[in-house]
Amino acid sequence: MEEIYVFGHKSPDTDTICSAIAYAKIKNWTPARLGEINEETKFVLDRFDIHVPELLGNVEGKKVILVDHNEFQQSADGIEKAEILEVIDHHKIKFSCDKPVKFLTEPSGSTATIIAKYFESDIEKIKSTDEKKKINGLLLSAVLSDTVVFKSPTTTEEDKKIANDLAKAAGISDIIKFGIDIKKANGSIKGKPVESIIMADFKEFDFNGNKVGIGQTEIVDINEIYEIKDEISKFMENLKNRKYEMTVFVATDIIKEGSELFFAGDKSKIEKAFNAKFEGNFVYIPGLMSRKKQVVPNLQRVF
Ligand code: MN
Ligand code: MN
Repeated sequence: MEEIYVFGHKSPDTDTICSAIAYAKIKNWTPARLGEINEETKFVLDRFDIHVPELLGNVEGKKVILVDHNEFQQSADGIEKAEILEVIDHHKIKFSCDKPVKFLTEPSGSTATIIAKYFESDIEKIKSTDEKKKINGLLLSAVLSDTVVFKSPTTTEEDKKIANDLAKAAGISDIIKFGIDIKKANGSIKGKPVESIIMADFKEFDFNGNKVGIGQTEIVDINEIYEIKDEISKFMENLKNRKYEMTVFVATDIIKEGSELFFAGDKSKIEKAFNAKFEGNFVYIPGLMSRKKQVVPNLQRVF
């Protein structure tokens, strides 16, 4: 029988990998991936004792199912010349195909939500209880990952309901704790050099002729930041002295939904920008999550 490959987007995340594996298992097809899996996904696969799917190269001439994406730009090389049989996705639709194709989409928080919703009875039919548990566990992990444990504004009521059903079927009692454990696998900064934590997602801005550098990281345990606060402060100060008027580092706790804000530069400016009193050079600001929507406009105002 000719192989049918199920895969998600390049730079795979947990929803992409777990949805591909779960759907492939349900249909007896072959799950695949288009890149290296991240630490979070590795944690999930290890947790359910699942093999990493095979890495797929050019898919020209192959029969394929796309999950968690529909834009060719994010898909496998040679996708234009592949035979696309189905698409299951929750992103904006930018897809065209010169043949009829089964296209299943909903504005849900994850692709896994859609698979769990529409293929519940197929999962039920799987004979091995162990296998069934694994599929439910993978789908649950994907929902929790994509919705950031229901904190993301993309989360729907259906995501929550389905996640609870999946958790029951997977034998996971504390769904929030499980979700946080998943996020921790990716989010932990323990053991990472301070430079890589601050610079991994760092952007430069020009505020009225002043160069300001702003880094951000997402973590699940803000306490990890306090353990390295002195190193962060030193790095920020050095970085500022080298090329900036001010440097800012936003350590966002995705569970508490707030950020610890570090800075080096003019204290009166940053206190004014965030209407906050800094003890030394950092302060926790509840509700601060977005560099683009909150940090940048606030700073721009005072420069
Ligand atoms: Mn994805
Ligand atoms: Mn997704």
